[in-house]
Amino acid sequence: MQVTQNLCILGATGSIGCNTLNVVANHTDKFNVFALTGNAQISKLAEQIIQFQPSFAVVPTERAAKALKELLNSQANSTEILFGKQALCDIASHEDVTTVMSAIVGAAGLMPTLAAVKSGKRVLLANKESLVMSGELFINAVSEHGAVLIPIDSEHNAIFQCLPHDFTYADKASSGISHLLLTASGGPFRTLPLNEFASVTPAQACAHPNWSMGQKISIDSASMMNKGLEFIEAKWLFGLNEDDIKVVIHPQSTIHSMVQYVDGSVLAQMGNPDMRTPIAHGLSYPERMTSGVQPLDFSALHNFSFEEPCSERFPNLYLAMQASRDGQSATTALNAANEQAVEAFLQNKINFLQINHVNNEVLDKMPIQNLSSLEGILAHDKHSRDIANAVIQNLC
Ligand code: NAD
Ligand code: MG
Repeated sequence: MQVTQNLCILGATGSIGCNTLNVVANHTDKFNVFALTGNAQISKLAEQIIQFQPSFAVVPTERAAKALKELLNSQANSTEILFGKQALCDIASHEDVTTVMSAIVGAAGLMPTLAAVKSGKRVLLANKESLVMSGELFINAVSEHGAVLIPIDSEHNAIFQCLPHDFTYADKASSGISHLLLTASGGPFRTLPLNEFASVTPAQACAHPNWSMGQKISIDSASMMNKGLEFIEAKWLFGLNEDDIKVVIHPQSTIHSMVQYVDGSVLAQMGNPDMRTPIAHGLSYPERMTSGVQPLDFSALHNFSFEEPCSERFPNLYLAMQASRDGQSATTALNAANEQAVEAFLQNKINFLQINHVNNEVLDKMPIQNLSSLEGILAHDKHSRDIANAVIQNLC
């Protein structure tokens, strides 16, 4: 590992961002916090800036920059404050940055993450939506620009740890891999009677039994769209086919995913459900360092169970798997539709079941087409959001 990594944390004020800073705070000899970015939580960003004294901070607007400066009140004189979408890309590709934690939620993460990839950074990827939106283009950019991509999503980080060290992208045969097993907790509604789904509230949907996360991924976990997005993410991260990836519900969230080999061996990565483990692994890879996570206590693990995800209960998972087979235009459309639908659900405009309705409608209406350029992907994303908004409007 390099002596000091110069870190840019995109989405520092979120769940992953805060966990990253928590890990980094115990390893100041190895990491220098060079840049922090945040969107709405300006006072939280101000606290982080005062603690970590980064060279740069990025906020969305000039107004937010002014508010941040007032909050800092000369407590971080060496931090330059930038604003706007271009500033996010500029900071992610800044020549002094070695490592970028990509932890913005949703499609907003795509451009800055791609900027980091195109400038050959070490990219720690939490923002799964960027791969769902632009899979092949993103992965091609990684190899073209010599970036190092390390998965932070706990399942993909687990698989990364269970793969052979010399695993070659897309070559499962040489490594004797049979398939990947993505584990899912099943979320807060794994046993909820089906006739109660229409009346669940955003607060109930956000109350994940095992993981503490941002709002959007919490809703995606409740609908299992999160596992659908992760299915697509796994396909692109490891270069495998849909038939090579299986999903299994494991309600205890102790096994974070597995790799099954042709000789019958199954390698699993386990630990307490705490994102600081994959974050610390990604930061220190190929070495190991402490994360602050409590060691797993096997004497306290009373149950280890597994079940198939039911398509009636979790239709979004199967929709995403089908979109993956239909290709880039379908996964871009699905990601866009789902972001709009989740936002509408959080604002109480639609009910929980209607998230799936919006997603279905958008996939039905958007043509399956070849999307190979960034412009094409962004236009397809915009068109899908427009359709999703019209469907939501009709439902309201
Ligand atoms: P979060 O909502 O807690 O935080 C999101 C961060 O993105 C915040 O810092 C916010 O200010 C910033 N942001 C939001 N909209 C923005 C915009 N338009 N422009 C710039 N910045 C913006 O989300 P999270 O739970 O930390 O998740 C972040 C990403 O990591 C998501 O893609 C999620 O799927 C992924 N992920 C999260 C977890 C988890 O445990 N939280 C686990 C695996 C993967
Ligand atoms: Mg995950």
